[in-house]
Amino acid sequence: MSVSYRNGTLPKGPLKVDRPLSMNLSTKSSSGSFKSKNSGHAPASATRRKSTGSVVNSAVNAKDDNSVSGRVRVAVRLRPRNAEEMESDADFADCVELQPELKRLKLRRNNWDSDTYEFDEVLTEFSSQKRVYEVVAKPVVESVLDGYNGTVMAYGQTGTGKTYTLGRLGEEDTADRGIMVRAMEDILAEITPEKDSISVSYFQLYMESIQDLLNPMNDNISIVEDPKTGDVSLPGATTVDIRDQKSFLELLRVGEAHRFAANTKLNTESSRSHAMLMVHVERSVKGRDSAISSENGSASHTAKAFKPPVVRKSKLVVVDLAGSERIDKSGSEAHTLEEAKSINLSLSALGKCINALAENSAHVPVRDSKLTRLLRDSFGGTARTSLVITIGPSPRHRGETASTIMFGQRAMKVENMLKIKEEFDYKSLSRRLEMQLEKQIAEHERQQKGFKDDIERITREAQIRITEAEKGYAEALERERSRYQNDYMDAISKLEEQWAANKQKQENEKAKSSMLSASLEVAELKKLFENETISRKVAEEEIDNLKNQLAQWKRSEAAGNSEILKLRKMLEDEKCQKAKLEEEIAVLRNQLMQLSFEADETRRNLDRGETVKLPGTLDSPIPPFMHQHLGDSGNGEKASMAKLFEQVGLQKILSLLESEDADVQIHAVKVVANLAAEEANQERIVKAGGLKSLLTLLRSSNDETIHRVAAGAIANLAMNETNQELIMSQGGISLLSITAAKAEDPQTLRMVAGAIANLCGNEKLQPKLRGEGGVKALLGMVRCRHPDVLAQVARGIANFAKCESRAYTQGSKTGKSLLIEDGTLPWIVQNANNEASPIRRHIELALCHLAQHEINAKDMIKVGALWELVRISRDCSRDDIRTLAYRTLTSSPSFQAELKRLRIDYG
Ligand code: ADP
Ligand code: MG
Repeated sequence: MSVSYRNGTLPKGPLKVDRPLSMNLSTKSSSGSFKSKNSGHAPASATRRKSTGSVVNSAVNAKDDNSVSGRVRVAVRLRPRNAEEMESDADFADCVELQPELKRLKLRRNNWDSDTYEFDEVLTEFSSQKRVYEVVAKPVVESVLDGYNGTVMAYGQTGTGKTYTLGRLGEEDTADRGIMVRAMEDILAEITPEKDSISVSYFQLYMESIQDLLNPMNDNISIVEDPKTGDVSLPGATTVDIRDQKSFLELLRVGEAHRFAANTKLNTESSRSHAMLMVHVERSVKGRDSAISSENGSASHTAKAFKPPVVRKSKLVVVDLAGSERIDKSGSEAHTLEEAKSINLSLSALGKCINALAENSAHVPVRDSKLTRLLRDSFGGTARTSLVITIGPSPRHRGETASTIMFGQRAMKVENMLKIKEEFDYKSLSRRLEMQLEKQIAEHERQQKGFKDDIERITREAQIRITEAEKGYAEALERERSRYQNDYMDAISKLEEQWAANKQKQENEKAKSSMLSASLEVAELKKLFENETISRKVAEEEIDNLKNQLAQWKRSEAAGNSEILKLRKMLEDEKCQKAKLEEEIAVLRNQLMQLSFEADETRRNLDRGETVKLPGTLDSPIPPFMHQHLGDSGNGEKASMAKLFEQVGLQKILSLLESEDADVQIHAVKVVANLAAEEANQERIVKAGGLKSLLTLLRSSNDETIHRVAAGAIANLAMNETNQELIMSQGGISLLSITAAKAEDPQTLRMVAGAIANLCGNEKLQPKLRGEGGVKALLGMVRCRHPDVLAQVARGIANFAKCESRAYTQGSKTGKSLLIEDGTLPWIVQNANNEASPIRRHIELALCHLAQHEINAKDMIKVGALWELVRISRDCSRDDIRTLAYRTLTSSPSFQAELKRLRIDYG
């Protein structure tokens, strides 16, 4: 298969676009050269060459075109003057003049005229080998690597540098390396050694025979043409695989040596033979779609799966032609006529073919020579061809130089049709498929073996299972059989037992019916019954015994109880007796106190002579009365108390007040009361919390004795102004009121009344005292007619009235007397003339205080207090009170008005 295109119309797509040539002459008509008649004229004045008609400008402009052309490219290279020419031509100018920048060459016709030619490349005598390679050969080499055939050919007169240009090995100086060496370097650098292959053959054509330069024995190789494709090949030539540059250089050396040897043997010069190096490049195009698959775009899957690898086969032909000089047909210079004919044959055939191609002639005489047959693909074929024509500067060879130039000019018109040679690599596909098949076969065999093994294994396992199942079944069967047998035997023996038992039963029934056995049984039962009776009797006896014991215990307990009762009764009697005695003692003491008070008074009165004044003591609290009340033997008791107090300590005594034991409480409160009677102890008692304890006792205790003694102690403490406030603030008034309401004992009442009376003497506390029921409590206590109690009540009222009076005077009090408000007035009036003088005195004083303030007058008049005041002002034994009463009556408008109303003459 092949892809072909003409005039630079390379297909786009997977194919690599060829590196653009440095110039393009897209059509035959656009290429070519022209000659100018005047060497001094500018190109603009140049005339067209007769055959082409193209202009320089168009060709120059076309150089920048990137399109690819298949046209044969031609470069001209000028050799520098050699030593001989330097000498012999010293006086002459070169026959050519190069204009490399214009890619033009001027060939002198004579001293005043020259022809100008244009080439694809103009290489001066100074051009380096490297540059020559790059412009002449490199594009061809790249095409070859891309899969096209390529040709690089040198044409020129002997000695102008064809071999120098193509075949220099550059062993001494690498810069000298020629096109062959450089081309192989590029090829080796580009290919992939694993996939691609390079092989080389090297031969020469001399007198229409082909000699293998790699094997001198091989001296007449025939050309084989493929009848279908027309491809030519030299199957007889030695081909050497090239892997590295070193082996290639060796090959060239060998070839050169053989060429020299062969020519010596043939008695000729190497310039008479054409040398050809053929480099075969084979590259696989894996990894990129080949031109084939893109042609049949809809290839089936199977086709894809078995798509054979594609290889591209291309070859590079480097041709070092024989010298182009005309050989004297006369056979001079030691050439036979035959040889001359032969040599000329190949070159002239090449010239003819090129002419035919250049002129697009229908017939191209390719078959005229072996050279043209071998180069069939290079000119007018599918290869990319680059020709370098070599010329010398000497004017002596002007004719040869001109003919060389003309050859080049004609060759530039040859248009090739580039083709890629791709083929399916069926061999490698077949190898691959074969390998795959072998693999599959092996795999299949392995699988079959595996299946077989599996089947065998499964069969074995099944066999084992069957055997096991059979065994298990047999065992189970045996077990079932023996179980049934055992059950059967058991059933038999049970039936036998049952039968025997039935038999026995029948026999027993028979025996029971006999008398003997019955009487025996009765006797036995009797015996049992007797035993039972005996044991019952024993138990009954035991119970009786225990009952007796219990009665005895009860009797002794009752005796004990009556004894206890008796003792209790005695104790109570004793208690009663004691209480009675105490009461008697108290009464006696009171009488004694009263007597002593009266005696006192009498004594004082006596001391003061006939005018008896109200003693100041009436205003102040009464003296301590606990001693009299407790009545114990005076100083002796006091001394023992003090002793006790010192021994035990106040705190301890106070703590005993809270004792659970009533007796202890009583004793303790007595001690405290005794202590409180001494003014010296009062402060200490209060500080130690004694007052609080005493008040607590009033609240918590139900014992009247305790109430009495505690109230007495409080009364004593209440003589002090500070203590009075404390008592009030700690709720003392209400406690005393409650106690007063509950108490029966006159002595208790006396103590409570005394305490309240003391508090009544404190002016500051009056409203609070009255507010908390103090006055009412006082009045309530008169239910007890005991003169001692009444005396304390009277004292309290007197104290209250006196303080109130003071408040009136000071202006801090305005309303009616609280005593009047609380209803004390009737009692005051009733007792104003009480036979007991302490009572009488206190009340008289109270009346005087009340009467001093007009606001109270009306009420006083209402209850008859006026009469009592009149009496007092007339009869009172105490001067001061009598005077006070008189002054009050006379100064009060209300009283005066009343007296007037009643027409009593007063004053
Ligand atoms: P041809 O192969 O065309 O007969 P050669 O390549 O053998 O010519 O060259 C002839 C001589 O000229 C050689 O000695 C070669 O070294 C020399 N020569 C040719 N071309 C050049 C060049 N461009 N520069 C220097 N010397 C050259
Ligand atoms: Mg040569």
